Amino acid sequence: KEALWQRELREQFPIVTAHPESAYLDSAATSQKPRAVLDAVQTYLTTSNANAGRGTYPWANRTTELVAETRQRVKEFLHDPAPDRSGVHFTSGTTEGLRGVARDWLVPYLTDGDEILVPHADHRANLDPWLEAQRLLAERGVDIRVRALPYQEVSGDYDHRVLDGIVGPRTRFVAATHVHHVHGGDMNVHRIRAAVGPDVPICLDAAQSVGHLPVDVGELDVDFVVFSGHKAMALPGTGAVWARNARGPVFRPGGWQGTPNTAGIVSLRAALDWLEAAGPDRIARWTAGLTGRLTDRLRHLDPYEILGCQVSLAAGSALPAAQRRHGIVTFRHRDIPSDDLGFILYSHGFMVRADNLCQAGRGEKDGSVRVSLHVYNTVEEVDRLLSVLESLA
Ligand code: PMP
Repeated sequence: KEALWQRELREQFPIVTAHPESAYLDSAATSQKPRAVLDAVQTYLTTSNANAGRGTYPWANRTTELVAETRQRVKEFLHDPAPDRSGVHFTSGTTEGLRGVARDWLVPYLTDGDEILVPHADHRANLDPWLEAQRLLAERGVDIRVRALPYQEVSGDYDHRVLDGIVGPRTRFVAATHVHHVHGGDMNVHRIRAAVGPDVPICLDAAQSVGHLPVDVGELDVDFVVFSGHKAMALPGTGAVWARNARGPVFRPGGWQGTPNTAGIVSLRAALDWLEAAGPDRIARWTAGLTGRLTDRLRHLDPYEILGCQVSLAAGSALPAAQRRHGIVTFRHRDIPSDDLGFILYSHGFMVRADNLCQAGRGEKDGSVRVSLHVYNTVEEVDRLLSVLESLA
């Protein structure tokens, strides 16, 4: 039944069905787009393309309406319990979104002696903006302390017991990641709220979770959710920041004004509609199944090492069962450099990422191969990949 459901969904991706000899395994970088998204963009551009927020004629009014509707759609999709109070800002992706939160919200919010907690082993996009905020503040004579979120050695998620000891009266902000872009682990961010108390704003990098699993801002109890539309079936150059409280000093007036990416925003609405209909829960189960199949066999192949967050799991050792992995498996071959392995895999039709994956703290030479899956990927693709990997073992 699940296989039939998946096949029906897969057939809705023109680029996927047009290349049956290839397998796209790089969805953590950007996702492919279903026909419904392409159609929505085509319809918009051929029926009512205009600028938003400044019209006295129907196309402009329709564009303004579509932007407002997408804002509502983002709130619904994130299960926003108080949509009248929250705000949604459109961006080009997670990097711009996190930078916007840092420069336009965090900088004016912090005062001398405040502390912030940020991840040092996640995506660079979730570290650099906070360090930049610290620099901007220092230029104004405001000194803040940036502290590192602690990680668990084996599972790679945050260490909440250690966190209790780090949080203090001057802790004013936490940045965290929902699903890790290297090992695909759920970082268990819902536990951060308990450690920091009700009043410390938490900003979540949801680049690898929106579109892959249900994201419920009420349940997670976070204040900002930043994600990439383009990783969630929408057009390239799309993303959004959801802010729990739209009132108060959220974003600098004028900061993100100007002409929005209206076609991208339209595509985001269509993408969220599509994902909702497919069912984020069901998508998560599908990709977790594929990930499990891949890791279960890969970890028995001697030359491969599967990467955790801070530790690398030795070949043959068990993956931490407590932690669910969402559609991402990153590994190295003992003897074959990762970029060579990437080329070998491509010669067999597999499109994977092979570099340092923008992980904070990892240099150019820390190569690895990342396989990242979405709902259009199949068991057959994973098995084909495994047989190539096995032939290199
Ligand atoms: N954060 C995480 C966890 C990511 O995986 C990525 C994309 N690889 C980003 C941020 C950056 O997203 P974007 O390219 O949309 O700016």
